Amino acid sequence: MPEGNEIHRWAARHAAAFAGKTVRVDGPQGRFTDTALLDGRKLLGVKAVGKHLGYDFGRDRILHIHLGLQGDFTEGSGPLPAVKGALRLRMWNAAAVKKPAVELGSRKHSWYSEDDGTANSPAEQIAWVELRGPMDCTVYSQQMWETLERRLGPDPLNGDDPERAFAKIAKSRKPIGVLLMEQDVFAGIGNIYRAELLYRARQSPFTQGATVPRKVLEKMWNEAGPLMRAGMVDRRIVTTLAKDRPHKKGSVLKEETHYVYRRNGKPCWVCGTKVMKMEGFAGRNLFWCPVCQAV
Ligand SMILES: [Zn+2]
Repeated sequence: MPEGNEIHRWAARHAAAFAGKTVRVDGPQGRFTDTALLDGRKLLGVKAVGKHLGYDFGRDRILHIHLGLQGDFTEGSGPLPAVKGALRLRMWNAAAVKKPAVELGSRKHSWYSEDDGTANSPAEQIAWVELRGPMDCTVYSQQMWETLERRLGPDPLNGDDPERAFAKIAKSRKPIGVLLMEQDVFAGIGNIYRAELLYRARQSPFTQGATVPRKVLEKMWNEAGPLMRAGMVDRRIVTTLAKDRPHKKGSVLKEETHYVYRRNGKPCWVCGTKVMKMEGFAGRNLFWCPVCQAV
């Protein structure tokens, strides 16, 4: 599932491509039926909070998109491509799709860390985007959007105050590895950042929230913003420090981008112990080092 870094990245790209312009919207396979509310209106801006996107079309109409586990965007320049796949929605700039295509180079990704983003073209060259497989794609009112924002915890990418989240954790008997995935605690943190923030803080995922030291929570919060912002630029999430990687110089090798995420059975970069995996911890696979994160 895309995490906050990816969602904020789409918001920035789509705002650069479409905000301030009249935007065409359709659902050519009948999978989006509110086209008439949005098509031909000016897009005022694109918001991101946690894993939610909001395309503000004015007049109390905000297109809410949550990608969920399967959802993804495809982008391109030039004429709209033929309709294919389970296409939920398309958004395009009527003038830009009359121009010839240029090579954008953005690649579809199956696992974010494999896409270092270096081939991405400037967002201004995007003429159209397609959306497939989202968990939600519906038109919200301003009130609905505000209700959503109130429900979500602080977002490390929005400069929010973390105190609300710290207070919730301090009262909770749930394991910190579960709390980090709850979007009403922190918004935008997903499975990769959960695993890696816990590792970097040398914190066991199984410790009850109430007994996690305040300085550990502060470290995780303070690192979440910069790490997620770095992953927003190039989609590739790198959480290892150079001093801990076998190759300390040069570009980061794919297999050295993470401490524990998807490294089960491999030796911890720091202590050499085999990284562990547990399935279905807060619904997703959990990875951790039993020695570095013993407490
Ligand atoms: Zn270790």
